[in-house]
Amino acid sequence: MPVRAYAALSAGAALTPFTLERRAPGPKDVELEVLYCGICHSDLHQVRAEWGEAMFPMVPGHEIVGRVARVGPEVTRFAPGDLAGVGCFVDSCRTCGSCARGLEQYCDGHLALTYNGTERDQKTPTFGGYAERIVVDEAYTLRVPAGLPLERVAPLLCAGITTYSPLKRWHVGPGQRVAVVGLGGLGHMGVKLAAAFGAEVTVVSTSRSKEADARRLGAHGFIASREDGALEAHAGRFDFVLDTVSAPHDPNPLLSLLRLDGAMVLVGAPERPLEVGAFPLILRRRTLAGSLIGGIAETQEMLDFCVPRGIGADVEVIAVQDVDRAYERMVRGDVKFRFVIDAASLAR
Ligand code: NAP
Ligand code: ZN
Ligand code: ZN
Repeated sequence: MPVRAYAALSAGAALTPFTLERRAPGPKDVELEVLYCGICHSDLHQVRAEWGEAMFPMVPGHEIVGRVARVGPEVTRFAPGDLAGVGCFVDSCRTCGSCARGLEQYCDGHLALTYNGTERDQKTPTFGGYAERIVVDEAYTLRVPAGLPLERVAPLLCAGITTYSPLKRWHVGPGQRVAVVGLGGLGHMGVKLAAAFGAEVTVVSTSRSKEADARRLGAHGFIASREDGALEAHAGRFDFVLDTVSAPHDPNPLLSLLRLDGAMVLVGAPERPLEVGAFPLILRRRTLAGSLIGGIAETQEMLDFCVPRGIGADVEVIAVQDVDRAYERMVRGDVKFRFVIDAASLAR
């Protein structure tokens, strides 16, 4: 079926109206009418082919919330009218060790990304959530609990799970000091979640102007990283550092924030390598690690944790026609804290 969408036709091109073809729902598929789709910095990295070769035309969007329109005859967990979500991937090999453990994001076979990728057949291109409809196997579709405005729920499907998963994996909780680096879409969810888990949270930001917002979001401390000596003054104080920075930056003063055996986890994905010194790691036996989104079961767990507690993203809702302007503003850090597309604007 033809579906109205917005696409980049080539690397770095402005997004334009585009009609894509979706399959009719198969036996196990759910067809969603998209209501809201968040704008992740990963959308911009990929539209601009900053991570290497990319597939065009590209319909970005992997923070999707919608209403179930139709289901295939073998679908058991969804019915028309239900709220549902789709995150960063729509299928995986289903047989490897990672898939068996519910860590589909680390699939050793083929991970079918929601866009800029291919379906399980490794041929059919996938198209994301800047579109009126999407069709996804129910096993890769999330249940969305009622209780929060849906535009605030959409960003949980990437920004939420990407910060939730490492905070859980490294057992962040009461009695710990956590630094969240970069107060954007991921960072502001990291602050809310680390605070909800009971940690003492400090925001490390290049923008002093974000301090009041950081505290409103739940941060107890604030470090303006570009002010002289600011990071050095806090060396050795933190148990855990979550680095959400989208651009190349110096990780060494951030590593130095960690105490003995502390861990810094990169979730930000800058287009160029970071230069890591040996000494910030070997002194105090620190760990540097990375983390990619989360599996389906953990994403469901995150939604079931966040929505009843009123934990959603702080959003600015836009029409799809304004997406390029939103990208520009996101690069400048001018967003509080996630742009979300109102899919109704696709009909204009
Ligand atoms: P975003 O909203 O643009 O936030 C990024 C923040 O990084 C900015 O708000 C800014 O915070 C900080 N920053 C930007 N340029 C900087 C620089 N040159 N030096 C220091 N700090 C800088 O982006 P996002 O959507 O949160 O995504 C962040 C990154 O995570 C992107 O690279 C994205 O691709 C990646 N990502 C990874 C995963 C994963 O699974 N690992 C999932 C989603 C996204 P301040 O103004 O506070 O300094
Ligand atoms: Zn994302
Ligand atoms: Zn797999």
